[in-house]
Amino acid sequence: MNLKDLSVDNEWTLFLDRDGVINKRIIDGYVTCWEEFEFLPGVLHALQLLSGLFGRLIIVTNQQGIGKGLMTNNDLKNIHNKMLKEIERNGGNITSIYYSPYLDADNHETRKPNSGMAMQAKHEFPEINFNKSVMVGDSIVDMQFGKKLNMYTVYLMDETGDFNHQLIDFQYKDLPDFTDHIIKTLT
Ligand SMILES: [Mg+2]
Repeated sequence: MNLKDLSVDNEWTLFLDRDGVINKRIIDGYVTCWEEFEFLPGVLHALQLLSGLFGRLIIVTNQQGIGKGLMTNNDLKNIHNKMLKEIERNGGNITSIYYSPYLDADNHETRKPNSGMAMQAKHEFPEINFNKSVMVGDSIVDMQFGKKLNMYTVYLMDETGDFNHQLIDFQYKDLPDFTDHIIKTLT
């Protein structure tokens, strides 16, 4: 599959995982406060460019740190408010953020790979067309989530190797790398 075949325009929606895509993932831990939140290199500029290409950008993030009692809903909302401010200050525009606070063991419909957060987004923004959507993430559950909804999937993996998985349509090093490639298809 070629990125060029997608012909992305403002009818398209970009779904983004958060940890490991926008900010640095904390291995075996959670970002529980703004001080622990670190944008990955080049992501703010990439989000600005992507905001001009796609009709809307939507973040879908599993945050079971809340279910584990390591942070509250308010802690997370505070992080997201500051994150959005920073993204907007850099010319990017996030339409909405959905998060699932539930534990993995709960298997809640909103926790990826389940499709609940996409359904919430579609409910709030009926113009979303999953066939004209791309899911970008750094884990296989993101790819499962995207494929369940018939989206195109982009797997971010900062290593070379054989990650040729049936759930993965495209693979790039990071969000700026994906952005560079999609811009090249449009010029
Ligand atoms: Mg992730």
